[in-house]
Amino acid sequence: MSSYWLNSVKDKPSFTTLNKNISTDVCIVGAGIFGLTCGYYLSKQGFKVVILDKNDICQKVSGHTTAKITSQHNLIYKYLVDSLGIKYAKQYLDANQEAISNIKNIIDNENIDCDFEIQDSYIYTTNENEVNEIQLENKTVNTLGLNSEFVTTSALPFKIKGAIKFPNQAQFNPLKYAVGLANAITKNSGEIYTNTAVYDIKKNGHEFLTHTQDNCISSKYIILASHYPFINAPGYYFLKMYQSTSYLIAVDIGDKTFNGMYINPQSPIFSYRFANYNDKKVLLVGGADHKTGSKIDLSNAYSILENEVKKFYPKSTVLYRWNTQDCITLDKIPYIGEFSNLMSNMYIGTGFNKWGMTSSNVAANIIVDNISGKTNKFEDVFKSTRFHPIKNSEEFGNMIKETTNSLIINKFKVPQQRLKSIQHDSGVVLEIDNEKIGIYKDKDGKLFAVKPICTHLGCLLSWNNIDKTWDCPCHGSRFDYMGKNLYNPAIKDLEIIEIDCTN
Ligand SMILES: Cc1cc2nc3c(=O)[nH]c(=O)nc-3n(C[C@H](O)[C@H](O)[C@H](O)COP(=O)(O)OP(=O)(O)OC[C@H]3O[C@@H](n4cnc5c(N)ncnc54)[C@H](O)[C@@H]3O)c2cc1C
Repeated sequence: MSSYWLNSVKDKPSFTTLNKNISTDVCIVGAGIFGLTCGYYLSKQGFKVVILDKNDICQKVSGHTTAKITSQHNLIYKYLVDSLGIKYAKQYLDANQEAISNIKNIIDNENIDCDFEIQDSYIYTTNENEVNEIQLENKTVNTLGLNSEFVTTSALPFKIKGAIKFPNQAQFNPLKYAVGLANAITKNSGEIYTNTAVYDIKKNGHEFLTHTQDNCISSKYIILASHYPFINAPGYYFLKMYQSTSYLIAVDIGDKTFNGMYINPQSPIFSYRFANYNDKKVLLVGGADHKTGSKIDLSNAYSILENEVKKFYPKSTVLYRWNTQDCITLDKIPYIGEFSNLMSNMYIGTGFNKWGMTSSNVAANIIVDNISGKTNKFEDVFKSTRFHPIKNSEEFGNMIKETTNSLIINKFKVPQQRLKSIQHDSGVVLEIDNEKIGIYKDKDGKLFAVKPICTHLGCLLSWNNIDKTWDCPCHGSRFDYMGKNLYNPAIKDLEIIEIDCTN
């Protein structure tokens, strides 16, 4: 599960675990790219900032991304014009284009060595049926003011039917960038605490009290930068988002390279870009997307990508394999701004729809402006408290169906039998006397049993045989086979069950 990025940085700064109560202007929960970008801008403006992360910095989604920095968020612009009108579609485009320049400015100003490179970005198709849609998207983007182009050739190692090219987009190494942000934050007297999980946030008069295991941070403002929010109400983001997993491989294809960053619009999706690797370049290939926690066979997720690369580079070698998941909003627009109308001074940035490099910068700028008492020119389109009728009614229906199908409350019991039938290195949910128990049998036959019920809202978990994790089909929380929580919105570990193997 560990990405190339996480292995690419050897001299990371180390941070300590919080061991005292503190008071600050802004408490930021989460040190992924979004939390760190907020911390950077706020500390630069002189705000007292404390950032807490339950892991190390940038170890979760931002440390496992593809790290294309682009406003080309798949074929979104025609959809935005049709659903929200030209004004909002243009705001979305301008905000994300500005984010590319903002990221470059941060890198230049702070001297961050993070393999930042300007690259053109393409959505390509090899399917004649998709050409028209791409041409329409190109026309729409031109109308919105960006000089995109429809092209019929590319540097990819196969023929395409057409592509929309966004010029002057970019790519970088997200971990090196995160380290640069963290260094700048501490230089500006911001404080970062790692291995410090937040379990609860309470409002007490005009201040927030953020509770970790043993300590409490009081602050005027809170930014929830935990990826999927772990507070359910108010806000109710679990009704408006699901999570989607994608897989990535880093492949050594020898001396060959090509320029550009590529993705196709429809399943099976393949995404391509190169990354610096020691003195050479490796090809990053992504895809095999699925809704997190889906009850599907995941065993061929990486081989789909590997087989695709082998078609063009038969002698290539896979150096890294990893996967991660992002929050997908039903209306395709991130949630940025106040967490809820009922909770002023608490802010959120989530639902980046697998385009969080620019979206996190847009989010940080909007929220930092709000905290500084300024109106941000892009805030309306991303407003987290918006209430549009949900156009994506099919996905909404699926979400509700999976949530209700998987909801199980108060069902738990120690099993007595049927353990022998479980294969080595696999997990199952056994139903014994109408009660569920999740059991993983490792390669040596050792059994690990958990209550397979998500600690977020009580959905029945599915076994993920590729990562040996328990995954939630409702909102995408994930747990390792011993029950340790890996991904939000759940924050508590699973209950461990002791099993009696004697009868
Ligand atoms: C496979 C894949 C490829 C992608 N590729 C691209 C791409 O090419 N370009 C692009 O723009 N976007 C891409 N994205 C999207 C992008 O990576 C994400 O949107 C972005 O990284 C999310 O950043 P974040 O800071 O919100 O979340 P994270 O990086 O997950 O940060 C959240 C942090 O909060 C911490 N946390 C959570 N709960 C708590 C708690 N209770 N207490 C304390 N800390 C907590 C976590 O430990 C974590 O460090 C991709 C996404 C996926 C899944």
